[in-house]
Parts: sequence; structure tokens; C-alpha cells
Amino acid sequence: MPTEVCVFCRIANGDSDAAIVYRDEQVIAFRDIRPVAPIHVLIVPIKHIASLNDALPEDETLLTHLLGVARQVAVQEGVAAGGYRLVLNSGKNGGQSVFHLHVHLLGGRSMQWPPG
Ligand code: AMP
Repeated sequence: MPTEVCVFCRIANGDSDAAIVYRDEQVIAFRDIRPVAPIHVLIVPIKHIASLNDALPEDETLLTHLLGVARQVAVQEGVAAGGYRLVLNSGKNGGQSVFHLHVHLLGGRSMQWPPG
């Protein structure tokens, strides 16, 4: 998908609004527009990678950084001590709806298992 029509690329480029809670040169984090928990933040690489399947070996450092940012945002959002859940949906059966790789940070309530 061309980056100019990808909603998360548009947010990363500043062409679309979002409630941004974290940004560095490689990663951006913003609040999910349809939150399913009191804290629901999306951690997103600025580089357009459609899904985890599309990440290249050269993206491994970026993927590690993505998790580090998720941990940092959990602290920032006040849910680190109480616990939180990270979700990465991949592909149709995984429930992915936006094809720009992202990690959901969910917190502020008890999570159920198994997920639906
Ligand atoms: P997934 O189903 O894992 O691909 O998750 C995509 C998430 O992106 C959903 O939770 C949507 O609510 C969220 N989302 C879609 N568009 C936006 C947007 N413009 N700003 C913030 N979150 C969005």
C-alpha cells in the first residue's frame, strides 16, 4: 500500500491527527481511536511494514525497539506495576485490520484469557 494512503503512515507523517503519547526517530505511539481498555495505545514503527510477516531480518533491531517503547509507554501511562497486555494481530485470522505493523498496549483493567 502506498504510504500516502496508509492511515498510520499519515499519522506518523503528521498528515492525520492522533493523540500522540510518544515519538522518536523510529517509533510513534498514539491512543487507539476505539479503545477497548482504559489505556489503549498503539505502538507503531514509522517505517511502513504491512505486518509482522513482512518484517525483514534487517528490521529486527526495530522490532526490539518497538517492545522497548511499549514497556516505556506502559510506565508513562501508569500501568506497568499493575500489569498490562501487548497484542500484535497479524493477518486475517489474527484480526489485523490496519496493515501497518503495530502493537496494542492494553491496560487499566484485568484482562481475560483466552482472548476472543
Ligand atoms: P488491528 O485490528 O490490530 O489492525 O488494530 C487496528 C487498530 O487501529 C484498531 O484498534 C483501530 O481502532 C485503530 N485505529 C484505526 N484507525 C485509527 C486512527 N486513525 N487513530 C487511532 N487508532 C486507529
